[in-house]
Amino acid sequence: MLSKIILQTNIDKVKNYFNRADKIVIVTHVSPDGDAIGSSLGLYHFLTGMEKNVNIIVPNAFPEFLHWMPGAKEIVRYDRYSEFADKLISEADVILCLDFNALSRIDAVAKPVAKSSARKVMIDHHLNPEDFCKVTISHPNISSTSELVFRLICRMGCFDEISRDGAECIYAGMMTDTGGFTYNSNNREIYFIISELLSKGIDKDEIYRKVFNTYSEGRLRLMGYVLYEKMEVYHQFHSALIWLTKEEQKKFQFVKGDTEGFVNIPLQMKGICFSVFLREDTEKNMIKVSLRSSGNFPCNKVAQEFFNGGGHLNASGGEFYGTMNEAISLFKQAMVKYENLLLKNL
Ligand code: 5GP
Ligand code: MN
Repeated sequence: MLSKIILQTNIDKVKNYFNRADKIVIVTHVSPDGDAIGSSLGLYHFLTGMEKNVNIIVPNAFPEFLHWMPGAKEIVRYDRYSEFADKLISEADVILCLDFNALSRIDAVAKPVAKSSARKVMIDHHLNPEDFCKVTISHPNISSTSELVFRLICRMGCFDEISRDGAECIYAGMMTDTGGFTYNSNNREIYFIISELLSKGIDKDEIYRKVFNTYSEGRLRLMGYVLYEKMEVYHQFHSALIWLTKEEQKKFQFVKGDTEGFVNIPLQMKGICFSVFLREDTEKNMIKVSLRSSGNFPCNKVAQEFFNGGGHLNASGGEFYGTMNEAISLFKQAMVKYENLLLKNL
């Protein structure tokens, strides 16, 4: 049995919205990850099963290793089809905002969503949700939005309506947001949910392979280069930094998603609990910052204070507008400022 985490009043409202709606739009955050796509498709399969007219709109591309997911081909990219997406948003009865807590996280999609008179529902697990939805289902202690989608569907009394396709998407989202159930994954109810998803006939081992064992040669060589040449380790601060320029990315035929997960690697070193990855973005004129920590070190605080960002305690990110040297210098300032916490953490 699952604990009743989502408020009954919210379940009732959402159920009522679904029953009355004909056209439903699902939106999720920029550079969608496995949980963003998994939770969106999980609900998509459920709602199309209810004979609703459902569309998923994402601000931009999502990584190749998620393209296998059932329904992924139907996802509308706003950066390519903004007029079509605008029409879908303006005609929607309900807009579901999945895996993000602030309109700024959906880039250009924010404007039409803010303007729309549809009933909006947020389903998310990031801290401090903004108040722009009629119903806000926000649970930062739950490790993925996909898990929340499963809980929502079950609480509406519709477990039987989850298809194998839907179950695969939900599982993939839960798996990716916990690094294959290696962090944020001590809640035993997660394993009850997995057991329920397995009863739908999903092959969890195959899903793991399809998501995690799909490196291109370029990505693997870039990883080798980065670890050998570009990783700076600051043992005295229990920290590590990796940074990558546009030129380097070009040299290794970088495609979006190739550096996914690099930031986690330094945490595999004994004595390292804080890792930062700085990458010059090839599209926007900024440096994408990814931060990871283990234990109690709050990398989201560093993200917020130094890199205009935020996120979770152990996984956060931000954007920096300036030079690589300035970003590196900020990282060093952060280590000094947080020295006590860093040393206490291990
Ligand atoms: P990643 O390093 O995988 O891009 O992001 C990890 C987490 O950090 C995301 O799940 C999200 O919660 C948060 N995050 C990433 N980029 C940003 C950003 O630019 N602003 C904010 N507020 N959070 C971010
Ligand atoms: Mn998530």
